[in-house]
Amino acid sequence: MSSLTPTQKTEDRTLDTTLRPQRWDDYIGQEHIKDNLHILIEAARRRNEPIEHLLFYGPAGLGKTTLAHLIAKETNTNVRLTSGPAIERVGDLASILTNLTPGDILFIDEVHRLNKLIEEVLYPAMESRSLDIVIGKGPSARIIQLELPPFTLIAATTRIALLSAPLRSRFSGGTFRLDFYSNDHISEIIRRSAAVLGIGIEDDARSEIARRSRFTPRVANRLLKRCRDYAQVKGDGVITAALAQDALQLMDVDPLGLEPSDKRILEAIIDKFNGGPVGVQTLAASTAEEIETIEDVHEPYLLQIGFLERTPRGRIATPRAYEHLGKELPQQRQDSLL
Ligand code: ADP
Repeated sequence: MSSLTPTQKTEDRTLDTTLRPQRWDDYIGQEHIKDNLHILIEAARRRNEPIEHLLFYGPAGLGKTTLAHLIAKETNTNVRLTSGPAIERVGDLASILTNLTPGDILFIDEVHRLNKLIEEVLYPAMESRSLDIVIGKGPSARIIQLELPPFTLIAATTRIALLSAPLRSRFSGGTFRLDFYSNDHISEIIRRSAAVLGIGIEDDARSEIARRSRFTPRVANRLLKRCRDYAQVKGDGVITAALAQDALQLMDVDPLGLEPSDKRILEAIIDKFNGGPVGVQTLAASTAEEIETIEDVHEPYLLQIGFLERTPRGRIATPRAYEHLGKELPQQRQDSLL
């Protein structure tokens, strides 16, 4: 989240690794995707081939990277992790691809940020496992073609709409959307994480944290860890509902999981732009948030809980957002609801 400092982001990543499910049974929810993946994996095993290229999309922290790790584990292969912005030059991609061992999984996070030139080098690599490299410039330029080991590309993105059609069409194994989790599933994830970390937590406290976790496992794990700290200092280490409530209040996480930065965005729409519509660029300028943070972190959840609407003319705060923030809906909007 934008309100996280770089140290907190690193803590989140470390927590991700510690709590990452190592078995399918520990990967809660997303049943539809799991069913599809089991078939794909089994079919590939019977053909003795690597599984086909896959694309996962959906908001951050929902389990895309974890799926890539689980697939690697099940197929007994290695996963090489990289990301769109980390592959700056064609040479970077060439070096990654030529260093793969047969059957490896290459995971590219934030694939929507891959540069177009690199994308074009990726097409033949995905389709026919060949890498075309141009040597030299001008009339003396030559193309050399390298054969690559069989591999599976698993790409992840929070912004599917930014992916070009040619790239999307090359994920022959399928494109899967990860959905937000139900509170029950998040509560289950908290139960498992608490067990892994050796934290005592009461059932009511789990529900309390789950309700404020934005339907997102990574957020649930982060809140759990901070409630643990609070319970150790203020209680006897076991997280009770009362301790969880106090801890979450201290963290400025409200009963719906909204943080001050979410509220700043909603308040800007309501107070400065009369409820909207307002374009995301204007909104970013007036809240000092980055456009990408608004679109990737805040909007998906605010849309999901019905606090925001996206229209062709911009973002609109809904009557529910007004009510939650204790603001009065302008007369004009009240009339339009009649
Ligand atoms: P993404 O790649 O979508 O940003 P990650 O795969 O890194 O998300 O997931 C973040 C963390 O959330 C993981 O380390 C894991 O602990 C937890 N997590 C995600 N999905 C699940 C799930 N379905 N069941 C249990 N824990 C999960």
